[in-house]
Amino acid sequence: MNYFITGATGFIGSQLLQRLAKRPGEIYILTYDKISEDRLEALLEKHHLPKNKFHCIKGSITEPNLGISAEDTKNLTGKIDQFFHLAAIYDLTASEEDMMRANIEGTEHTLRFAERINAGCFHYFSSIAVAGQYRGWFREDMLNEATGLEHAYFSTKHNAEKLVQETATIPWRAYRPGIVIGDSKTGEADRVDGPYYFFKIIQKLRRALPEWAPLLGLEGGRLNLVPVDYVADAIDHISHKPELDNQCFHIVDPDPYRSGEVINLFAEAGHAPRMAMRLDMRVFRMIPSHFWSQLGQVPALKRFIDAISKEMDMPQDALGYFNYPTQFDCSNTLNALSDSNICCPRLADYADKIWDFWERNLDPELHVEKTLQGCVNDKVVVITGASSGIGYTTALKLAKTKARLVLIARDLDRLQQTRNEIERLGGHASIYQCDLSQDEPSQAVIKQIKHDHGKVDILINNAGRSIRRSVEKATDRLHDYERTMQINYFGSLRMILGNLPEMIEAGEGHIINISSIAVLTNQPLFSAYAASKSALDTFTRTASTELGGQGIDFTTINMPLVETRMISDHYREAEGGIPLLTPEEAADLIIKAIIEKPKRIATKLGLLGAFIHGVYPKLGELLMATGYNPEHGKHDGDNAEPKQPSADVVAINSIMREIHM
Ligand code: NAP
Repeated sequence: MNYFITGATGFIGSQLLQRLAKRPGEIYILTYDKISEDRLEALLEKHHLPKNKFHCIKGSITEPNLGISAEDTKNLTGKIDQFFHLAAIYDLTASEEDMMRANIEGTEHTLRFAERINAGCFHYFSSIAVAGQYRGWFREDMLNEATGLEHAYFSTKHNAEKLVQETATIPWRAYRPGIVIGDSKTGEADRVDGPYYFFKIIQKLRRALPEWAPLLGLEGGRLNLVPVDYVADAIDHISHKPELDNQCFHIVDPDPYRSGEVINLFAEAGHAPRMAMRLDMRVFRMIPSHFWSQLGQVPALKRFIDAISKEMDMPQDALGYFNYPTQFDCSNTLNALSDSNICCPRLADYADKIWDFWERNLDPELHVEKTLQGCVNDKVVVITGASSGIGYTTALKLAKTKARLVLIARDLDRLQQTRNEIERLGGHASIYQCDLSQDEPSQAVIKQIKHDHGKVDILINNAGRSIRRSVEKATDRLHDYERTMQINYFGSLRMILGNLPEMIEAGEGHIINISSIAVLTNQPLFSAYAASKSALDTFTRTASTELGGQGIDFTTINMPLVETRMISDHYREAEGGIPLLTPEEAADLIIKAIIEKPKRIATKLGLLGAFIHGVYPKLGELLMATGYNPEHGKHDGDNAEPKQPSADVVAINSIMREIHM
């Protein structure tokens, strides 16, 4: 038995090839250029397939007669028993024109060629997309009943299969796989589609929250996922069975999960929190569809959807996957497979393989410019408060890059020591002595830096001070509140406002503000400090809304407690108190901010704190009041010896330690 295959090096094609290679007969493969020949060569080598069995036939589905030479056409005539047509575009982001050319014209050219060489059977690789947005059960003998075919992805696959069914003059079989995902044994896949679009969200949740945090989510329609190895096994088997011509086969999961369940399975595989409660999106079905389409045209909503899909690396059309309205009957396929042991594996049994392969090989982040060097090369990076603690450590981390470091603080001796250390590591830094809580010297230093270095590219507002005192003990100390505001809020604001005009003019600039976890957790005893950092966070959120479109990025880091001079008087981890980051770990968060430019970096503890205060404020207060008992440790200005923490303080703090990062 001889075979002809289009699209042999694709995702499903390469799996089918491995199965056909085990059968007797020759295999002819359509290759359109040197690249596709090389890809085939690599595939044969990777899977140790016998090269003498495979023959390249030069041509392309975009040309009549596939552009195959007269000689090849003559040689192939009457020789091909099974003609597999897989070449197509299944990409939601492809243009309508490209999809038309590949899916409809390509299928027509291929079918006519198969007829011309009098192939035994034309095996057409269709898709469940032929059903469009059909509501309810779609059977294998249905096609014209499809509805909601507006998107080219649906309509081109639909019309291509229709063309095969209605015009083929040789026997045909059509296979409609569900949403094809990676191999159930290895997770291997070569593209991101279907559920993979949700992986980024799952990954972000994992980074933000502890695995056990229960989430509120959505439940949608059934998401019919099939692993590529099942698709290849099933089609290989069915295509070789007699008396099944001129029929369709749904190569789908007979018992698919709902989209919310699918996300939960992948969240479990990725050790991310799961949606404990899910609101069924079918409740929105009573709303007429024209309402949704009009709503989708509202500019503000469009911008919002744009932003979400950009943030998640997800084409907007992929959001439609969530509430897929169609279910697929596959009785014909199950009958055809009943004499084999081929069956669709349960997603719950292989979701971990799919996740693992994606995270190691397909995560778009892997391809982004990740090196710090690339991000700061020749850039003017200003770090305020670089004479000690987090600022000092960050400056040293940047010493080995080619950043043009500009360091500001009040203590000139320590600044000089920082510069010496940077030079010892091979870097270079300019230092400026300035009290940023004072307006006049701040304006002077901003001017001087512009004169010496030109525009600032990255501004790290790190200089700050903290005051630990209960409100009760501060009733006669308004100056506590004024002092923290002067440096934490106004000091940062001076630097931002002073450098913004040049950033706006250049259309780029990154401002990183070192805020505090105290803003998210309402930490007792830090009312002056947290309020000043909150002011900066709020300014940043507003400014970011105004300036985001002008190339200015803002990142707020809600830094957890770090073992530096600032807090040395307040806490000691060894005392059984709350867990602390090292300055190196804190500086790594700033490096992450420089590379990834996220809106916010916060630890799981901080986000959980914000969540609890938002949803259960009373519980938040109780936890904080217990974990940060004012009697524990010494107060600012107190001479009392630190007291041993009580059992409940130790218990709560040990829970926090687990979710500290
Ligand atoms: P640190 O070791 O005390 O460093 C503070 C830095 O700010 C020093 O370089 C200090 O230098 C500078 N600074 C203070 N007042 C200044 C002023 N008026 N003008 C110019 N520079 C001034 O503290 P850190 O822990 O590294 O804190 C760095 C930042 O992280 C602060 O914004 C802090 O609020 C924030 N943060 C810290 C923690 C923590 O647990 N450590 C937690 C959350 C957030 P000079 O004394 O030489 O001026």
